[in-house]
Amino acid sequence: MYKDYLVRATSGNNEIRAFAVTTRNLVEEARIHHNSSPICTAALGRLMSAALMMGDMLKNEEDVLTIQIEGDGRMRGLAAVSNNKGEVRGYTRVKDVILPPNAQGHLNVGGAIGKGTLTVIRDFNMKEPYVSTIPLHNGEIAEDLTYYFAQSEQTASSVGLGVLMNKDNTVKQAGGFIVQLMPSCPEESIQILERNLRNITSVTSILDEGKTPEEMLGLVLKDLDPQILGTKEVKFKCNCSREKAEQILMMSTKKDLEELSKKEDGVEVVCEFCSSVYKFSQDEIKQMAKDALD
Ligand code: ZN
Repeated sequence: MYKDYLVRATSGNNEIRAFAVTTRNLVEEARIHHNSSPICTAALGRLMSAALMMGDMLKNEEDVLTIQIEGDGRMRGLAAVSNNKGEVRGYTRVKDVILPPNAQGHLNVGGAIGKGTLTVIRDFNMKEPYVSTIPLHNGEIAEDLTYYFAQSEQTASSVGLGVLMNKDNTVKQAGGFIVQLMPSCPEESIQILERNLRNITSVTSILDEGKTPEEMLGLVLKDLDPQILGTKEVKFKCNCSREKAEQILMMSTKKDLEELSKKEDGVEVVCEFCSSVYKFSQDEIKQMAKDALD
């Protein structure tokens, strides 16, 4: 029942395409990695859910999608990286932000992020990456991405994202949907879609009723002859390793490595995406300092 997966669908006439995802397990996994507060977990869960759906829009397995948010709020920003294999990783710059609920009584994600920018980077293997930055609309992430699609991709979209926390601060539900109009979409289909979207209360209430991503798309594309095109398992996956941590250390200057080699307890390199800790002993750092070029 709690498997994380993504579903893609179209309306019967291909005028509307839609994605939905349930991500409860992988958002809980990220929360455990980062030991993040509920607001930070909610922000990261929303962004990772969106990144998975946008990653599914990529054509090739080597392509990489990054969404970065920079804000002047206490969270300072967050990032998620995904691909079209259903893998995602992410982090918030500050992980322990706690704020009172917003006016609607919800986790105040927009307040924790503040004013700033949203940047989407699509990295196509061997080619120039596609980079686009827009100002944040309200920092709640779903609306920011709706504006991103309109401004940067000239695609009319609606994005719904949600993370619901348990009282013990673990993740109860997480997921989202993205629905996009193809240029050929006629006015009557747009009106049906707008009616459907008005009737959707929230992503988390749909998931909390026990509905699947397929059923969520059934609500989004109601009376539009929804066609499920495929499903895909999604997961949290970081690509860090001890070797990569070592490479990062080796990029330091000889002088810096010599300075680090004075630490008797050695050095820890922490992966920002999954908080894994890679430890290097004083002897290992001394060896790196010796091997480093002047
Ligand atoms: Zn990592």
